[in-house]
Amino acid sequence: MTERLRIALQKKGRLADDSYALLKKCGLRFSIRSGGLLARVKNMPIDLLLVRDDDIPSFVANDASDIGIVGENVLMEERFTTAGDLDADIKMRLGFSRCKLCLAAPANGKISNPADLSYTRIATTYPGVLGDYLNKNNIVAKSVDMKGAVELAPSIGIAESICDLVSSGATLEANGLVAFETILDSEAVLIASGRKLSPEKQAILDKLLSRIDGVIKSTETKYIMMNAPRDRVEEITELLPGADAPTIMPLAGDDNLVALQAVCTENIFWETLEDLKDLGARAILVLPIEKMMS
Ligand code: ATP
Ligand code: ZN
Repeated sequence: MTERLRIALQKKGRLADDSYALLKKCGLRFSIRSGGLLARVKNMPIDLLLVRDDDIPSFVANDASDIGIVGENVLMEERFTTAGDLDADIKMRLGFSRCKLCLAAPANGKISNPADLSYTRIATTYPGVLGDYLNKNNIVAKSVDMKGAVELAPSIGIAESICDLVSSGATLEANGLVAFETILDSEAVLIASGRKLSPEKQAILDKLLSRIDGVIKSTETKYIMMNAPRDRVEEITELLPGADAPTIMPLAGDDNLVALQAVCTENIFWETLEDLKDLGARAILVLPIEKMMS
């Protein structure tokens, strides 16, 4: 029987859809049944273990799963609550589910910076990360541990401030709160334990990591094409972000213009296109790249 690599994923929630989408872009074919704990990937020896995100670090550490995809915030919290005893580390940053763990307090209240926190109560679902922050900054404050709805704590009167995840800030605003400090920047990460995998599983993992790397690079990478004045090619090339030497081709019936094409590995902003136009470039096209392997 061939060995199958097991990946722990959030079953449902803010991390789940992007995790599934990433694996699908890597060519994995699977379908998620509601209520199922395990989904079988049809075209590769991989199984998906579908669980709550909070369980993912310990499942990876305790060999229930070989690797996992989880928010860095959840990994850090688990690390602090297990007192550094967690056998799970970041293998790759994935760039989605970006959010921040912030300290926030009622607008126009007594607390507007970390120094004001001394001898107050802070409500949070992240007592581990918060405790570490308070320790490192020599702040003596009480953490009020909650399971959710942290943003309500100040209005109920059980805490003066909160420590919670923020992405757009809309929830804070709706509750009259203002963030005054970020204690962790988080994104989805792929985690693995330090255990040695069998050669078969390692080979599957290496293939998956290389495909994920390709997917992440290709989302930032663009193919740019334009017609450019022959005598400005050098200046134009300098403007292209993260590009190797461009391909230059003659244009039929026009000696002064050439067709220029290049792969840019960084974002191309409107400002760059305007600068290119100022240098005489015309018919500029920026195309997405679907797959990359280098
Ligand atoms: P579960 O039922 O699996 O325990 P949950 O309710 O704890 O789910 P979600 O709200 O689905 O968690 O969030 C999962 C992860 O997504 C968070 O731990 C964080 O890494 C990330 N996240 C949280 N809020 C946002 C947000 N507003 N935008 C993007 N990502 C977010
Ligand atoms: Zn959770």
